[in-house]
Amino acid sequence: MTTRKEPYFKKLLDEEIFLHKYEKRQKADICLVFPASYSVAMSSLGYIAVHDKLMQEGLHTDRAFIDEKLGLYAIESRRLISTYRFLFVSLYLEEHLLYFIEMLRKLNIEPLSEKRESHFILAGGPLVDLLPGIISRIADGIYKGPLTDEGIDAIRGFCKNPKKNFDFENCNGSNKVDACGNVITPNSHFPEKFLIEIQKGCPHGCKFCSASRSSLGFIDRDFYLLNVKHARKFTDKIGLVGLALHTHPLWKELLKETVELGYSIGTSSLRFDMLDNDILDLLKKGKMKTVSTGLETGSRKLLEMTGKGFNSEDFLSFAERLKKTNMESLKLYLIIGLPLETEADIIETAELMNSFNSIYKGRIEISINPMVPKRNSVWKDASFIERRDYRKRIDILKTNIKNKRISFNIESYRSSQVMYLLNKMQDNELEDLCYDKAFFRKKEGKYG
Ligand code: SF4
Repeated sequence: MTTRKEPYFKKLLDEEIFLHKYEKRQKADICLVFPASYSVAMSSLGYIAVHDKLMQEGLHTDRAFIDEKLGLYAIESRRLISTYRFLFVSLYLEEHLLYFIEMLRKLNIEPLSEKRESHFILAGGPLVDLLPGIISRIADGIYKGPLTDEGIDAIRGFCKNPKKNFDFENCNGSNKVDACGNVITPNSHFPEKFLIEIQKGCPHGCKFCSASRSSLGFIDRDFYLLNVKHARKFTDKIGLVGLALHTHPLWKELLKETVELGYSIGTSSLRFDMLDNDILDLLKKGKMKTVSTGLETGSRKLLEMTGKGFNSEDFLSFAERLKKTNMESLKLYLIIGLPLETEADIIETAELMNSFNSIYKGRIEISINPMVPKRNSVWKDASFIERRDYRKRIDILKTNIKNKRISFNIESYRSSQVMYLLNKMQDNELEDLCYDKAFFRKKEGKYG
């Protein structure tokens, strides 16, 4: 490692606060890779929780990221990633798979499991559910779901007698909810926040979403309180994580108890139709300034088609509740390129925003994404919007929204297109993805 990087490594490590201490460090055999920057990794509860569990179980693990300032070195040891025999990788987004393959190639590690002799790779994270066929040709084992006691035993077995196609099936699929972050740091996207998972899964049936109607699991109240009380000694900021937080049977109670502990509360995106006055009041008492929620579209026709389960009147009554609570700002997610969408639907969305804004006067940021037909969503076979239509519809939306102080955060067309092409990829195209530089250009020609 170059000495130029050393101060940055030191700063990151010095500024991490661990809520529980680990046994004295030993030389690690495992490197837990997150294929994105340190700050993104530290805001990913799944990644932090897996590292914590492995360390608590005495499976000594160093961490590495794909971060220009850190290079290809593990943060604790400053060893090159390729010096570890076991690489565990957390894959969240489609682009993470690309970054991981690129990282392996830079380290002269063969990406394909069947050709690789030197290292053993275990993959986990939500992407293994989306692209299992592809990832199982890279990884020697796939771990699905949270890390359970059976999972830890299986990992010990894997590290003792590693082999290709290691079977983790018996420990896959648990719905246990007990992930909480053991580390807080100012260098995260959620600075100084203690992250804890409240629930998993989602009962709603949005047709564009790969989490649609996934099975639910909930954190135990006593376990929750034990952990949030302990974490409160280190921070007053908390991030409550879950796809559908309102589904926790004790959601209001947990929120109330968290507010009483003096936390500033942040949450994952919340369904606005599930945000009643009580919840909004509690969030406000929990010093929340911005509520994040998905409207996706303001078109009546498209709202009904998506299966979101709410309509434009519900959205306007949410504006009344937001106003009543005096919430400072709103972050709103919209999707462009839903099936059968026309320019008239975009104008209808802008008009709904104008009506909303005539009631709620707080700050609004609209985050726009093109619809990516995800493999395991109902709309997996839908087409992907063309670049010029994406741009045109964004212009129509902006022009027809009267309040020019509303800000827009627009997702890049290219990165969503790459996501789309990866969702379209066949398992036997993996070699091309790994070795053919023109892969995406060729795929683009095939799928548009
Ligand atoms: S978009 Fe949200 S509410 Fe709809 S299925 Fe996905 S996670 Fe659930």
